[in-house]
Amino acid sequence: MRIDILSAVPRLLDSWFNESILQRAQKKGLAEVHVHDLRDWSTDKHRKVDDYPFGGGAGMVLMIEPVQRAIEDLRSQWDHDEVIYMSPDGELLQQKTVNQLISSKNIIILCGHYKGIDERIREHFITREISIGDYVLSGGELPAAVLSDALIRLIPGVLGDGTSALSDSFQDGLVAPPVFTRPADHQGLKVPDVLLSGHQAQIDRWRHEQAVERTRLRRPGLLDEDASGDR
Ligand code: SAH
Repeated sequence: MRIDILSAVPRLLDSWFNESILQRAQKKGLAEVHVHDLRDWSTDKHRKVDDYPFGGGAGMVLMIEPVQRAIEDLRSQWDHDEVIYMSPDGELLQQKTVNQLISSKNIIILCGHYKGIDERIREHFITREISIGDYVLSGGELPAAVLSDALIRLIPGVLGDGTSALSDSFQDGLVAPPVFTRPADHQGLKVPDVLLSGHQAQIDRWRHEQAVERTRLRRPGLLDEDASGDR
């Protein structure tokens, strides 16, 4: 999978993609993430990419010209399955969105900033708009990193244990059961006996029961979805 991220402040994403699991995934050739500076497509001598909103008001708006040039340039080199704009009013990012997007080969993610982006970009160049939650951040870089991380960790071979992404919350319509590690007894705070029993079937059953119970308490909506088959 190749992810091209378009940003007016690409440095914000440097450390994110050059560390940990995401870097390993790139080194192993399992994922490619390219963060591009939108200013590279500006024709303005000051490399300007935003301007004041028509009609007045505070904040700057990302201009259509550099964004169009960037998208067309990238699309002339690779076929992109989606051109995604991270936006607070987009569809809410959920695990099922990620599971669906993971089948894409190449995606472009556009990060807005300040007041947002010229509406004509959204109308004519964006194929999908995704929000990471009902709150407003100052730029699309963190949301783009969130989406990329959620995608890349699902690529087979990226996580050390190939099955662990599948046992995470939401993959099976449940949140994850509690986990414990050594020591088994910390100043009288004990790990549930069953986890130390060595009986894998009992452990699996306990984990499933805990997952169902937690889901009932924390995300009852997931159980309703399951019951209605709407997943
Ligand atoms: N004026 C806009 C907010 C702009 S915030 C509005 O009220 O909707 C600046 C940029 O940050 C946006 O263009 C978007 O790319 C990004 N952003 C902010 N919050 C976000 C969220 N919850 N999900 C995804 N992107 C977000």
